[in-house]
Amino acid sequence: MPTFPFTEADPVQYPGPPPKASEVVIVGGGVIGVTTALFLASRNIPVTLLEKGRVAAEQSSRNWGWIRKQGRDADELPIVIEAIRLWRQLAEECGEDIGLNQTGVTYLANADKDMAKFEEFMRIAAIHELDTRLLGADETAKLITGMSRKFKGAMTTPSDMRAEPWLAVPALARLAVRKGARIVENCAARTLEIAAGRIKGVWTEAGYIETSTVLVAGGAWSSLFLARHGVAIPQLSVRVTTAATEPMPEVYRGAAADDHIAFRRRQDGGYTLAAGGSHLLYLGPDAFRHFTKYIPALRDNPFGTRYFPFAPSGYPDGWLTPRDWAPDSASPFERMRVLNPAPEPAKLRSIERNFKQLFPRFETVRLKVGWGGMIDAMPDVVPVVDQVRAVGGLFVATGMSGHGFGIGPGIGRVVCDLIQGNETGHDLSRFRLSRFYDGSSVRLGPAL
Ligand SMILES: Cc1cc2nc3c(=O)[nH]c(=O)nc-3n(C[C@H](O)[C@H](O)[C@H](O)COP(=O)(O)OP(=O)(O)OC[C@H]3O[C@@H](n4cnc5c(N)ncnc54)[C@H](O)[C@@H]3O)c2cc1C
Repeated sequence: MPTFPFTEADPVQYPGPPPKASEVVIVGGGVIGVTTALFLASRNIPVTLLEKGRVAAEQSSRNWGWIRKQGRDADELPIVIEAIRLWRQLAEECGEDIGLNQTGVTYLANADKDMAKFEEFMRIAAIHELDTRLLGADETAKLITGMSRKFKGAMTTPSDMRAEPWLAVPALARLAVRKGARIVENCAARTLEIAAGRIKGVWTEAGYIETSTVLVAGGAWSSLFLARHGVAIPQLSVRVTTAATEPMPEVYRGAAADDHIAFRRRQDGGYTLAAGGSHLLYLGPDAFRHFTKYIPALRDNPFGTRYFPFAPSGYPDGWLTPRDWAPDSASPFERMRVLNPAPEPAKLRSIERNFKQLFPRFETVRLKVGWGGMIDAMPDVVPVVDQVRAVGGLFVATGMSGHGFGIGPGIGRVVCDLIQGNETGHDLSRFRLSRFYDGSSVRLGPAL
């Protein structure tokens, strides 16, 4: 059983050196990079995945483990429907228990306005024939037992799933390697080699890899990496706090949330918990550069974000984080192998308090571990999944905006086809990079 959260003190599972050449190079070993590598390798395409720290050590192990169709942006839904089918298939192929269970997702309504929001999603759910339904107050109390508050009602999707992220993504990486992918940990991609508008290779901290195709799936670091090459992505990251309890009696098998608390039953008999309220944005040069693009999100939820004037040293949008570096000198990526923000003590206290208040039968809520994570977000809360038009052979899949774990295998399969020049089977226009620069107005997806 791996220790959690993952840090750079964990042993390297995939040592280098990287190969001298590879048909495809993937930057980033989170769920997006790993699943793309897996699908490429399954099609016998030579692929090398570079991870500056450890596979899944950033967002892809730290997330809540919700795999949901419920509440999704309408354009993401077809991909997440496919992802859920892929999760089942890949869990089987992994041959390891990744905690995948179809236990449902439920959103609780404190007020009529919450029910009205749920009604809006019901229209999208109907188009896709989802099993999502609205519950009244009594049905809600029956579904999740022992709650101190009577909710107005709820929206629930019984076919939604959960998995244990820190088990799932490393298991998918092992599967990718069994299929032929090459993974190299502790190996930052520093810069791209571009000539005559095309990718020629990647400079890493352990040498040069000749390649014609690169996917940037660097999570919170993608914007910093790409900006060095003149590709601007208005991506920012926010800090959030999560905790896991010791084993406790079951109140609900699935995952649920209201404004004050989010909880998911864990495979080990505890709960993964997060308190409602705001997340924390560290202000840095990118936050100011991209401010106007985030105005619609700020208007929609003015109190959803707290601000701090600077990030800890070495963070992607730190004031002192270099924006330019040479291929043969240390880059910001290897200086911060694993982005491992501390959990906020006040948030941990509200997690305990809010969970106890909702379930008074729990006299104590004992947290066995708390952790922080940086969620990478886009102004419209949907990702960028695209080919960079200005640089032949360069692809981007990033900015998953707090919901990239569940959809991960779907994005991985789609990007694999994009790279091969095949039809992807989905309309990706909503996720195009140019939407931020072609005069389109920001169309907000469901909140973070
Ligand atoms: C607390 C929290 C709760 C969440 N809850 C959910 C949830 O319940 N359901 C859901 O669907 N989603 C959830 N998410 C979001 C989800 O975790 C992310 O969207 C998803 O994991 C993003 O995957 P990724 O591969 O894009 O990025 P990451 O997992 O962040 O991986 C990117 C990797 O790239 C590496 N990297 C970056 N730059 C370089 C470089 N230059 N060279 C080499 N390597 C590099 C990094 O080290 C990192 O490991 C949550 C996120 C958080 C933080």
